[in-house]
Amino acid sequence: MTSQKHIAALSNPVFELIADSAAALAVDCYVIGGFVRDYLLKRGTPKDIDIVAIGSGIELAKKVASKLPGKPEVAVFKNFGTAMIKLKELEIEFVGARKESYYRDSRKPVVENGTLQEDQNRRDFTINALAISLNKKDYGTLIDPFNGLEDLENQLIRTPLAPGITYSDDPLRMMRAIRFAAQLDFTIHPESLKAITSHKKRIKIVSRERIVDELHKIMAAKKPSKGLALLHKTQLLSYILPELVALQGIEEVEGQKHKDNFWHTLEVVDNIAKTTDNLWLRWAALLHDIGKAPTKRFDKKLGWTFHAHEFVGAKMVYTIFKRLKMPLNDKMKFVQKMVLMSSRPIVLSEDYATDSAVRRLVFDAGDHVDDLMTLCEADITTKNPRKQRKYKNNFKLVRQKIIEVEERDHIRNFQPPISGEEIMATFNLKPSREIGIIKEAIKEAILEGEIPNEYEAAKKYMLKKAKESGLLPK
Ligand code: ATP
Ligand code: MG
Repeated sequence: MTSQKHIAALSNPVFELIADSAAALAVDCYVIGGFVRDYLLKRGTPKDIDIVAIGSGIELAKKVASKLPGKPEVAVFKNFGTAMIKLKELEIEFVGARKESYYRDSRKPVVENGTLQEDQNRRDFTINALAISLNKKDYGTLIDPFNGLEDLENQLIRTPLAPGITYSDDPLRMMRAIRFAAQLDFTIHPESLKAITSHKKRIKIVSRERIVDELHKIMAAKKPSKGLALLHKTQLLSYILPELVALQGIEEVEGQKHKDNFWHTLEVVDNIAKTTDNLWLRWAALLHDIGKAPTKRFDKKLGWTFHAHEFVGAKMVYTIFKRLKMPLNDKMKFVQKMVLMSSRPIVLSEDYATDSAVRRLVFDAGDHVDDLMTLCEADITTKNPRKQRKYKNNFKLVRQKIIEVEERDHIRNFQPPISGEEIMATFNLKPSREIGIIKEAIKEAILEGEIPNEYEAAKKYMLKKAKESGLLPK
């Protein structure tokens, strides 16, 4: 065991205050887990601090709060034996040291009071079991019973106990292992990886919300493919997103192959992660080809086709969000829209993009047209440098054209230049199908570029068309 001192980790004055409070109550306490790990990794400002007390965490929290300026509220979670104080953006969580044992069919442990060592035993990874003492006798001393420091240096995810026990006790840890590997760009110890693969079925007892929390963190990583590939390798992905697994593989018929859409998707996700932090746009990248497995056909003339995969994919987005208990709100609709439209700019970029095609794209994508372009640019995974350059350039031109068309025609949040009321008044019509037809004809003329998106031009056009069809103004 090491006896390194890490006083600098405790520069926040709140640690002195916690130490004084603990001394007054005659309980030992330590800062433990993510805070210590991230301090040693120099990972920026912490959002939460976990304090473990060898005694009552709740009592300690109350004592600390009473000494803090403004006496902040203590949120007590009696069932868990924990208490939380919020200091501006910082959450300080207090818990009594515990030892745990588990039932097979639930993540809920049987909890008993324990020693620091017992508490460290029940932590998920050696790098998360590191503690720094807040006690007068050894203030600032790192307590590292499992060589977590060495694992930090070697960038290794390893469990304190035998991995089979750690993962079987709480299968959420399988997701956490993969999430930390992606987030920190660490390697999962081979024994751990083996244990995750053999306990993969146990993921069924983890709530979907917790699974999605970890998935989001994987998707937010610098290189999400690292986590996604591990989920695939351990076969956890088959329980979480089987639709994605179905994209894997290359088939060959009559000498014609299609690309492996699973590994392609992972590349697209990594590409988009370089240009956006928008989590939902990253999800759109993950699901953009999801309709390709159920729509795959081989046609003697056309070769491999994925007819209407965007449409099928958009429907699958709903099924997946619902199954995973993800929000069925505007976020889901955004992902659906991106999936549905994911091939549109590609068609444009393969050829010369006409103004009217660009206007239609902007009309359909609305405010999300930039996101759609970002998705399509990320979708370029060809290894042919000439094609790579060509597609990128073409997308640049399309982007430029979007700006020009938008400046001139204001299509992004299209409002019909002539209202239904005015059409009714002009032709002496009651609310009817005709109004819709006239409105549609004006919109079409604008998108086609026959007339500009302006009131006078639209009115003139409407009257001319009415004359031609015998629908004269009163
Ligand atoms: P982050 O806050 O960046 O997500 P973290 O490691 O701090 O990472 P928390 O969920 O805040 O994660 O948990 C704090 C600490 O509690 C962890 O460092 C770990 O010691 C312990 N812990 C959390 N979840 C588990 C678990 N499922 N099994 C065992 N220990 C856990
Ligand atoms: Mg934390």
